[in-house]
Amino acid sequence: MSPLSAQAASYLATFGLPTLLALLGACWGSFAATLSDRWPQGRSIVQPRSHCEACQRTLTVRDLIPVLSYIAARGRCRHCGVPVSRRYPLIEIACASVGLVSGLLLPSPDSFWVAALGWQLLLLAILDAEHFWLPNPLVGLLAASGLGVAALGGTERLLTAIIGAAAGFTVLFAIAYLYKRIRGRTGMGGGDPKLFGAIGAWVGWQALPIVLLIGAGLGIGFAIFEAIRDGAVTNGGAMWQRRLPLGTCIAISTWVWLLLDRMNLTVISAFSTMSLN
Ligand SMILES: [Zn+2]
Repeated sequence: MSPLSAQAASYLATFGLPTLLALLGACWGSFAATLSDRWPQGRSIVQPRSHCEACQRTLTVRDLIPVLSYIAARGRCRHCGVPVSRRYPLIEIACASVGLVSGLLLPSPDSFWVAALGWQLLLLAILDAEHFWLPNPLVGLLAASGLGVAALGGTERLLTAIIGAAAGFTVLFAIAYLYKRIRGRTGMGGGDPKLFGAIGAWVGWQALPIVLLIGAGLGIGFAIFEAIRDGAVTNGGAMWQRRLPLGTCIAISTWVWLLLDRMNLTVISAFSTMSLN
């Protein structure tokens, strides 16, 4: 191999995977933005084709390239000039970033699994944040993909994942039940225990306490931030009456935790290979 093509090959090896995952992420983001917009309204995801909400013109391929179309048209519809919601490019960028970060920090195939987890969690996080809704089909897909990835890792990992799924669901279901008995009102969305079960299938039962703890911490931080922003601190208990998207918080903590966990293993195995040589 000539030095030049060797260099090109090494660049491809270093940046090819992150780029591929970023592009896949941007496309998924485009789909996720449409789905999370239309599904809660009971509208079909495939029909009608994407169109401008103001002038009703159907968007063509040129208008649908994630992020780039938005930048090229300066955030406006190409035909009528009405500003396009920033939601689309933001979700596309978030999903592309999940792919890019996974590809840069993790080797294959871990990068694929962590990216696939991140894309699913992001869609669920958006739906829970905007609508307090965690649709069963998406939570089911999350659980099934978690068990599938665990099965590839052998019987022991699969067993850890199955126990994780059962434990995750049971723990949050029990907390929700006790809260309702003691306080006389519902403190948690019905989808949260199912989501935590699906998360258990991805992270295993051992990681559930830390994921829940970080998620709850995020939720409290978020509540304090909102209360300060809205000036609600002064009227006493109002802050604790606020409804929080717990699902969004544990979705974020799960992804960050799994990313760090996988990185750690990579670093440890790199060190042990070095010491063996
Ligand atoms: Zn338009």
